[in-house]
Amino acid sequence: MGVDYETVQTWLAGYDSSQITIGVVASHSSLQILHGARQEGFRTLGIAVGENRRRFYKAFPGAEPDEWLMLDDYREMLDHAEWFRSKNVIIIPHGSLVEYLGATNFRNLEVPTFGNRNILHWESSRALQREWLEEGGCTMPKVIEDPHNIAGPVIVKYAGAKGGRGYFIARDYRDFRRNVDIEEEFTIQEYVLGCRYYLHFFFDPTATDGYQVQGRGQHAGKNLGRLELLSMDRRDESNVDEFYKLGSLRDLREMDLEPSFVVTGNQPVVIRESLLPRAFEMAEGTVAASFNLEEGSRGMLGPFCLETIVTDQLEFKVFEISARIVAGSNPFVGGSPYSDINERFMSTGRRIARSIRSGIESENLDDIIS
Ligand code: AMP
Repeated sequence: MGVDYETVQTWLAGYDSSQITIGVVASHSSLQILHGARQEGFRTLGIAVGENRRRFYKAFPGAEPDEWLMLDDYREMLDHAEWFRSKNVIIIPHGSLVEYLGATNFRNLEVPTFGNRNILHWESSRALQREWLEEGGCTMPKVIEDPHNIAGPVIVKYAGAKGGRGYFIARDYRDFRRNVDIEEEFTIQEYVLGCRYYLHFFFDPTATDGYQVQGRGQHAGKNLGRLELLSMDRRDESNVDEFYKLGSLRDLREMDLEPSFVVTGNQPVVIRESLLPRAFEMAEGTVAASFNLEEGSRGMLGPFCLETIVTDQLEFKVFEISARIVAGSNPFVGGSPYSDINERFMSTGRRIARSIRSGIESENLDDIIS
């Protein structure tokens, strides 16, 4: 079940709020998080395995941690919980932390973390994500349960695939049979043709102004907090993004080549302004639904990303949610065309640190920590 909220509150009550340190695993979006923490006046702690990793941060003095915890294995973080707490550390989770520790270990990490660590359970399986996102009013790509029913392009995703490695596209059952690794757990989704946009939102349950999320179900009639759009990216994926240069899928197969979807970088984008209201509607529904996922759910807290494809009918199809900071926010260390409208130089990393800063000032830090 992981660490319970009452215990986290006890730890926080013992923290010296004038000495809070922001701790992060040195990877993924750590430069942005460390830089943002520093902008908001926090001490910072980097957690790393391998001297080379630490040395690399010398190249970025604007983000270099004030202190390091060097480990032989990231799972040793679990044994350092008391040490972290003695230093008033709040850990900012990101994709690499969850991957290195494992989702269950992360839930059991006995250190205060930013956001709602329990929501990551809902993020961890495609079936749970679908339940959550559809409940929130998002349209998702159709799932094909029986491969015999493949009629048109599909994408086959393996459960344990890291960063899209090993996914493949099939046009019919024969194609599927030829490529599938039957030993692995997989999902078959309709292949949605369109442009990909990764929408980076932030939900602040402590704010009472701005675009307020309306509660649903047991929370109907309540304003749950403020929804913000911080930025948007599109991933570069190797090799599918450059695949077309060698000809058609058929030509490529003749050369024994298959497209792959391995993320190598991120590009900043904006979408047509007329698509923004629908983007907010989907994000609002997703946040509202997160409060009803289970009994007493504290809902989505902080940054999350809706990963979408916009078709030529100008419809969004949401294929995934990340319930934490995404690396796609890295192009925006200096702000984005969306966040600049409200405040210049506001990255997601800095927005997290700002949230912790206001939590300290208004003495409601425990509202945004788990
Ligand atoms: P995911 O692991 O679900 O984030 O997917 C990785 C990549 O596969 C995405 O960034 C897209 O390029 C592609 N992709 C995933 N789902 C679909 C889909 N239903 N239709 C088309 N492309 C997809």
